[in-house]
Amino acid sequence: MQNPRVVVDLVKLKENLDFLSSRIKKNNNISVTAITKSFSAHPEIISVYEKCEGIDYLGDSRIENFIKNLETTKEKVLVRIPMITEIPEVVKYTDVSFNTEIKVIQKLNEEAKKQNKTHKILLMVDLGDLREGIFEEEELYSVVEQVVQLNNIKLVGLGVNLTCYGAVIPTEAILNRLVYYKEKIEARFKVNLTMISGGNSSSIYMLDPDNPENLPKEITNLRIGEAFVLGRETAYGKDYKEMHQDIFTLKTEIVEYKTKPSYPIGEVGVDAFGNKPTFVDKGLMKRGIVGIGQQDVDKMTIHPLDSRLEIVGASSDHLIIDFTKAENDYQVGDEVSFGLDYGSLLNCFTSEYVKKEFI
Ligand SMILES: *Cc1c(COP(=O)(O)O)cnc(C)c1O
Repeated sequence: MQNPRVVVDLVKLKENLDFLSSRIKKNNNISVTAITKSFSAHPEIISVYEKCEGIDYLGDSRIENFIKNLETTKEKVLVRIPMITEIPEVVKYTDVSFNTEIKVIQKLNEEAKKQNKTHKILLMVDLGDLREGIFEEEELYSVVEQVVQLNNIKLVGLGVNLTCYGAVIPTEAILNRLVYYKEKIEARFKVNLTMISGGNSSSIYMLDPDNPENLPKEITNLRIGEAFVLGRETAYGKDYKEMHQDIFTLKTEIVEYKTKPSYPIGEVGVDAFGNKPTFVDKGLMKRGIVGIGQQDVDKMTIHPLDSRLEIVGASSDHLIIDFTKAENDYQVGDEVSFGLDYGSLLNCFTSEYVKKEFI
């Protein structure tokens, strides 16, 4: 197998999907939208999601990721607000999209009419995280008033996103605000809002029985990305002991292995990325280079599985590691394994230079 590569344990992944989706379902039979962007909706991984009965919808932020997986049988949800320039693809390749702008929704309506379809939308409400969402209550009602007049658009619900930009942790009080909007809209516009989407992997801590916060019973959907693949909730970053945290392993290969000083020799200017680095002189060091770099992965979001190794730095194509504490256990050509965080998972699946292996 060529390096670098991400090794994906599909058996562990299936166990994570089954465990968490059934746990969510136990609670008022909430529907589950599995978010597939962290692994670029790789078809091999999608096929595992397809087999999980507890998953109702597949959600992604990128239209390209739906086009790659045309055989998918679950309903498809675009969770990033559509760009006006991608509207024909959005109507063609997805069933539901998340929206906040009436101009975009009107264009979706025109396109849906052209394609002889009804396109479903969910309106995102901003409850304080300050990423996407309609913030003003009056604007929300004004958008709904215009949306219900569109013949080829069906408004199916409301949603909120939290713990992304503003890192705001979801609470019962915050989500009750979404429920309040739902009830006002249903009464005023005589519509039935069936999908009330109460957030992402940071909302699932509210399902824990020993937690004082409860998910309001009117919440009918959750969108889960990170919790499925990394086995943890993201409000407090707690691992689930029933889930696997090691589904993905990054394997790299040592291309140089030498004893060198730890302090550069000569005048220090700026590095490959325009930053002025600082160095600590630790004397002579066993330094190894593995063949992966900042073009593929951010060195801050990977961690060597051998805890004796320490990442020293990285340029575009070279990652430098201090092997001093494990000097005799490695040589040129050996593999070095890393665990991945959310950011590096995204990066590795985006990089065509990182191969994918499934076990
Ligand atoms: C990425 C994303 C999610 C999934 O978030 P996780 O924290 O990975 O569960 C849910 N909703 C929206 C709108 C997103 O962009």
